[in-house]
Order: sequence, then structure tokens, then C-alpha cells
Amino acid sequence: MAKSSHEIEHPIKPFGWAARDTSGVLSPFNFSRRATGENDVQFKVLYCGICHSDLHMLKNEWDNSKYPIVPGHEIVGVVTEVGSKVEKVKVGDNVGVGVIVGSCRKCDSCTNDLEQYCSSSIGTYSTTYYDRTTTYGGYSDLMVANEHFVLCWPENLLMEAAPLLCAGTTTYSPLRYVGLDKPGLNIGVVGLGGLGHMAVKFPKAFG
Ligand SMILES: [Zn+2]
Ligand SMILES: [Zn+2]
Repeated sequence: MAKSSHEIEHPIKPFGWAARDTSGVLSPFNFSRRATGENDVQFKVLYCGICHSDLHMLKNEWDNSKYPIVPGHEIVGVVTEVGSKVEKVKVGDNVGVGVIVGSCRKCDSCTNDLEQYCSSSIGTYSTTYYDRTTTYGGYSDLMVANEHFVLCWPENLLMEAAPLLCAGTTTYSPLRYVGLDKPGLNIGVVGLGGLGHMAVKFPKAFG
């Protein structure tokens, strides 16, 4: 496995904020991202949510952090370049990227739109990508991601909706799954943090 200090120098040079050790302190970080491949979308990062998972990862509290870490997996931006085979978005469109940027695309989970359960899914940061380089997240000014993991994003919800990409979907999905997406039902929420406040807003919107 490639160590970050020996990684390939890619042509795109973003600026980011990285933790270098378990102190979790962020400092300026110049790094490189791959050139925009034929299925890739490159975008300027406009906003990025702060998830508590970022804090766990920064301090290696889950024992799988690969330093330096550029966290951020609730990323919203505007497209600056697309590969020749990209169909979903064009330059100037708004996009979002969440928690994963890769998966096998062949297993039962992947073929049922459940890539998050793929045993070889690739995290948006601190994971080894197919080119054996480390992924870096949205606390940076530029992202490159495969279009399959890029979402079209509404113009009127840029900053406000960035947390939907992790905290939002983490609560929306189970509410739908267990049928709490209908008017007239009562729910209880334990804890009003980053996820909990979403778990109040969605049911309110459901009625
Ligand atoms: Zn998260
Ligand atoms: Zn898979």
C-alpha cells in the first residue's frame, strides 16, 4: 500500500486543510488529485459540512485513519470540468459528493443502489483509491470524483443542504425504510445533534 509521502504526484493541485497526527489539528496542506478521467467530474468546492465522523477520523478514534487526512464528506460545489463520457452533469452545474467515491459496481449491494454496503466501497477520504493513492475529502478547494458518486444539486440549497449528504441521508433513509414517512405518526428521537436535528426536521416535513 502506497504511503502518502511516496504517492504519485498528480497534475491537479488543490489546497486543503489536513490533520497530520492524532492531535487532529488542521493545518494548510498542498496536495494533488488525479486528472479528470473520462468518467470523472471535477468541481470547485463551495461548501462542506462538518460531521462528527470527521472528528473521529481526525483523531484516529476508529483506528483506521491514514495521515495526512483531509476530511469532509458533505461536499457541495460547482462543476469545472467533466470527462468525455460524463452524462449526468456539465460545467457550471452544482453537484454534491457524500461519504463514498467508489465501489465495485458489480456485487448485489452495488447493483441494488446500496453501494454503501459494498465490501470494497471507497471512502471520500483516508481510503486507498484504485490508483493506490489516498482519497482526500472536501476540506479543500477542488474535488475530482467518478460521476456515479456525484449528485446533481439544487441551486437554491447550496450551503444549507450540504449536511444532507451524510447526516441527512443517515436519518432520511431509515425513516423511509421503517415507514415513518407519513403524516399522523409519532416518533421519538434520542439526542439532538447533527443527525438528531435532521431526524426532527424530516418527520415534521412528512407531517
Ligand atoms: Zn458523516
Ligand atoms: Zn459492490
